[in-house]
Amino acid sequence: MGNDNFRVVVIGAGMSGILAGIKLQEAGYGNISIYEKAVRIGGTWRENTYPGLTCDVPSHHYTYSFERNPDWTRHLPPGGEIQAYFEDVTSKYKVDRLIRFNSEIVEASFRDGAWDLELSDGSTDRANVVIAATGVLHHPGTPDISGMDSFEGALFHSARWDHSVALEGKRVGVIGMGSTGVQIISALSERGVDVRHFVRNPQWIMPVENGYFTEEERAAFRADPQALDDAMDFAGYTEAVEAYTHALTNPDSEMALTMSQACRDNLEQNVHDPALREQLLPDHQPFCKRLIFSPDYYQAIQRDNARLVRSDIERIENNGIRTRDGKLHELDVIVLATGFRADQFMRPMRIHGRDGMDLETLWARRPTAYLAVTMPGFPNFFMLNGPNGPVGNFSLIEIAEQQWRYIAQLLAKLRSGECSEVEPSREALEEFDRERIEAAKKTIWYTGGCQSWYLDAEGIPASWPWSFSRFVDAMSEPHWEHFRLRKGESG
Ligand code: NAP
Repeated sequence: MGNDNFRVVVIGAGMSGILAGIKLQEAGYGNISIYEKAVRIGGTWRENTYPGLTCDVPSHHYTYSFERNPDWTRHLPPGGEIQAYFEDVTSKYKVDRLIRFNSEIVEASFRDGAWDLELSDGSTDRANVVIAATGVLHHPGTPDISGMDSFEGALFHSARWDHSVALEGKRVGVIGMGSTGVQIISALSERGVDVRHFVRNPQWIMPVENGYFTEEERAAFRADPQALDDAMDFAGYTEAVEAYTHALTNPDSEMALTMSQACRDNLEQNVHDPALREQLLPDHQPFCKRLIFSPDYYQAIQRDNARLVRSDIERIENNGIRTRDGKLHELDVIVLATGFRADQFMRPMRIHGRDGMDLETLWARRPTAYLAVTMPGFPNFFMLNGPNGPVGNFSLIEIAEQQWRYIAQLLAKLRSGECSEVEPSREALEEFDRERIEAAKKTIWYTGGCQSWYLDAEGIPASWPWSFSRFVDAMSEPHWEHFRLRKGESG
């Protein structure tokens, strides 16, 4: 039975917010709203619709643990199928009835034991608990390239794909060689579109296979959940995730060397022209940036309709991109696959905690949170996929589920009335941050010597710097001595 006086507000109806909606209902919370600024659920998977969009986590591992999907068509899930999966889950678990679309929260203030919320349309709400499920990569990073406004063709960011622009017969320039740029080039090259890839720093690519599930296999998964579980090979997957995090956190380990060699062999064996190979050779160690998994980029860039441009961009002109070597690359379309502002999280929301504390003060140096979930001075405010959580090449769904196990225990104390406010101590955050930063400096993201969105403004990797199993352990039960539980009037 729900306790209708205890109100929980979730911000964001992407993967994490939907999870929160399901888990809260399951646990009997009866007074829940999910505020979503857009008009559809889906977060990342709603906003990214570019050609070739694929998640690099194996399909059957990119689902909620409690809602497997026998119907994936590919070994790596295509973006459209992921969005459809989340829409199905939202309706099956009746999360849709909790969501208020077109509702952007602009300010949250903790006053007299509860959170006052203000929306962009001026309306307000008040809740005992706020769960920020606002995502990690959702503010497009638009580069500051001179002349961008002068371009007379179509120009858009990869996360704002303009599907009204037909690409066939056009000259398309794609800027950026992260996972996004690589997937776009692969897809457009295969379609025969005339593409030029503007790459400032080439990245390492791990080969990966991306086959199809046959109709027979999908029927077998539908008929027998055990067949699906067997195919998922949990033991093998967990071992692979551990090995991967081991390689990241121990750059000299045998595993790191083996995986690095796989990237080097991929380049060596699959790019035939030595001059092109040289141009695609990164100047940093593999793994130093988030590793790109691609089955076909090297084939794609070697097609006659694709071209790599390694000279840096000087400016954008009305009819194309001028590179530093003086050459003008005439284009009809420019795609900015230039990434995201990964330090934003729930910003630009203004968040005021207890006693005048505000988020911008706490985060003046870097986004930070105790165990990635809670912050001192912000009672009853919890984050899913907040700062300093694991963001390697693993499933953020699994990470959100682990974090939920932890948050559920904090919530239970509030709902039972054992306390009315829960927040970590400042010392707990400081100690966590100290250890985290020390460990982060030993990871390949730091020692490998390259720029990436994993690094904060001071060049410190912002991600979880330990093994995945350490994260699972940390999420299993709160260390209550690190928390302040207060009892008082709320509501
Ligand atoms: P990204 O990894 O941050 O890559 C951005 C690219 O744009 C880099 O190559 C960067 O070059 C380039 N760039 C930025 N500004 C530039 C400028 N002014 N001139 C030239 N080049 C410029 O972004 P992303 O590819 O969108 O990927 C972001 C993250 O999204 C990924 O790491 C991943 O977490 C997620 N993602 C995942 C998948 C998946 O398969 N699961 C797919 C897509 C995205 P420099 O390296 O020189 O800075």
